[in-house]
Amino acid sequence: MNIVLIGGPLSGKGTQAKLISKEYGLCHISTGELFREMIETNSKYKDLISEYMNKGSLVPDDITIKVLKEKLSTIDLEKGVLLDGFPRTLNQSQKLDNIFKIDQTIFLDIPMQVALERVETRFVCESCNKNVRTNNKNNPCIYCGGKLTKRKDDTTTTAMERFKEFMLVTQPVIEFYTGQKKLFKVDATKSIEEIFNEIKVRLNTLW
Ligand code: AMP
Repeated sequence: MNIVLIGGPLSGKGTQAKLISKEYGLCHISTGELFREMIETNSKYKDLISEYMNKGSLVPDDITIKVLKEKLSTIDLEKGVLLDGFPRTLNQSQKLDNIFKIDQTIFLDIPMQVALERVETRFVCESCNKNVRTNNKNNPCIYCGGKLTKRKDDTTTTAMERFKEFMLVTQPVIEFYTGQKKLFKVDATKSIEEIFNEIKVRLNTLW
């Protein structure tokens, strides 16, 4: 079973991706995470990727597709894949159709106002890498006690840019999967548990 998870910035995509991949034993691939790792490990694309990410723009398709294909070549596709944040452009969806069959696309729908409110309170743990919501960045991570930090692209200005780009460029992806009758839309303003339960009900009908 191969699943695609689409969602605007701050829609809780990464959190749901972790829950879904664990529940169904899927290999979780986040292109955003792959890019952040490439920046940290000084890959040759580091400067280019940071430039796009820091201004809230999408990394060009040719690099993104290359990075995804390289990652896919290292895993056992038989186990099934959960793609988190890919595809984000119509071109990426069409290219993906040539790589493997997508069984279900889940769209976490969030209004821009809610996303912008969440940007203030989202932090990431330096140790366990989980997202944590808190009003005080000096609080320890609720999962492991580690130190909280802010994602570089989690500023109000960048989040707004990411959101605008999402509406413009990713809308055709949503239409693409709607046309294939593979899109399942979830209200991303609900709680983590409610969203996960809705997704499970849907996925259990396919499994
Ligand atoms: P995410 O962690 O999914 O929020 O992604 C963080 C950033 O990585 C995005 O704002 C983009 O700059 C870049 N990115 C992630 N996935 C893609 C993709 N499929 N296509 C282009 N850029 C991407």
